[in-house]
Amino acid sequence: MINQKFKAMLNGKSVIRELSEYATARGAEIGYENVFDYSLGNPSVPCAQGYTDAVIKMHQEKDPMEIHGYSPSLGNTEVRRIVAESLSRRFGIPYETKHIFMASGAAGALAHAFRLVTEPGDEIVVFAPFFPEYRPYITDTGAVMRVVPADFEAFQINFEAFDEIMNPKVMAVLINTPNNPSGVVYSEETLIKLAAYLNKKQEEYGHDIFLISDEPYREIAFDGKEVPYPSRYYDNSISCYSFSKSLSLPGERIGYVAFNPKCTDADIDAVICTQISRGIGHNCPAATAQLGVAEVIDETSDLSVYETNMNLLYDMLIELGFTVVRPGGTFYIFPKALEDDAVAFCNKAKKYDLILVPADGFGAPGYFRMAYCIDTEKVKRSIPVFKKFVETEYPNR
Ligand code: PLP
Repeated sequence: MINQKFKAMLNGKSVIRELSEYATARGAEIGYENVFDYSLGNPSVPCAQGYTDAVIKMHQEKDPMEIHGYSPSLGNTEVRRIVAESLSRRFGIPYETKHIFMASGAAGALAHAFRLVTEPGDEIVVFAPFFPEYRPYITDTGAVMRVVPADFEAFQINFEAFDEIMNPKVMAVLINTPNNPSGVVYSEETLIKLAAYLNKKQEEYGHDIFLISDEPYREIAFDGKEVPYPSRYYDNSISCYSFSKSLSLPGERIGYVAFNPKCTDADIDAVICTQISRGIGHNCPAATAQLGVAEVIDETSDLSVYETNMNLLYDMLIELGFTVVRPGGTFYIFPKALEDDAVAFCNKAKKYDLILVPADGFGAPGYFRMAYCIDTEKVKRSIPVFKKFVETEYPNR
């Protein structure tokens, strides 16, 4: 018999994917240029040229046996050394090769981190609003996902609500900064407060509480600001990184886990991950992708379009009277809908071929997400359409 749990999940498919499929189908009818598709977080800029050059060169010059063989379970040793060296230089933490585990994107990195620090029945705390895929990522491990309601003022951490949820079963706390869907960057003040709180709770409960930091958007920051690096503030930190967004390589499925050298069992955590890989099949990430990213470890794609798009949309939303926190990074913006039911709001927008994602699945009902990883020309053309939608459907807002 087919596994009934997974079969039942077909009834709760990703709203984002469904809207994206709708946008594609609608595009086939009226021309995709006429659909303002703000659904999917798929990068809209090409990968860094240096990556393409490195991959072409390696295919032309290297021995195929060398580049296409199975990668070691931990990842290519030289690639791990390059990652450790880059992180140490950038963030002043003495990472070594042994602290790095190569993984298949952030999804693969998180799959290992969750399993490393929990047993079935243990709890992992997430803060709303959160990436909806966290739910299957976490619950499939047998751990329980506990959601802290949002701080709607600033989308930092609602510490009072967090304190109400904390209990000795919590083994890990998952953060994501810059954040999908809010676009908000956690401030240094938030991270210092979080670290102090977790240190206190570790002492009170007498066990580790790991901070798992999901960082696919680390490099997409606005206003020339640096994103505070969570691992600098808390020893028991596990950083899960992906090159999907910074280098526009989501299809290559490449990222890593970086264990803070002061984290519990830091010397063997990466090795333990190789045992986790055996069970979940997220093993030996693509060898050529590892070699390629190592060649451009401190580079990114040209990410400037995201800030341009954010400014256009933020100004429009403010002009139209929306409640919205200005994003500090990513390619998402997260306004409050103009009626309590964000699903109804997004359905009305669809009539104007504006594809917006209601945020019920992000743990923030009443809000919606716009993924503005699209051409600026299209963002500009969407603005009069958005205004018409709001003025027609909500004349008395
Ligand atoms: N975490 C967040 C917050 C994301 O937005 C995404 C993808 O959109 C992922 C994890 C998964 O990233 P990857 O493609 O690197 O697996």
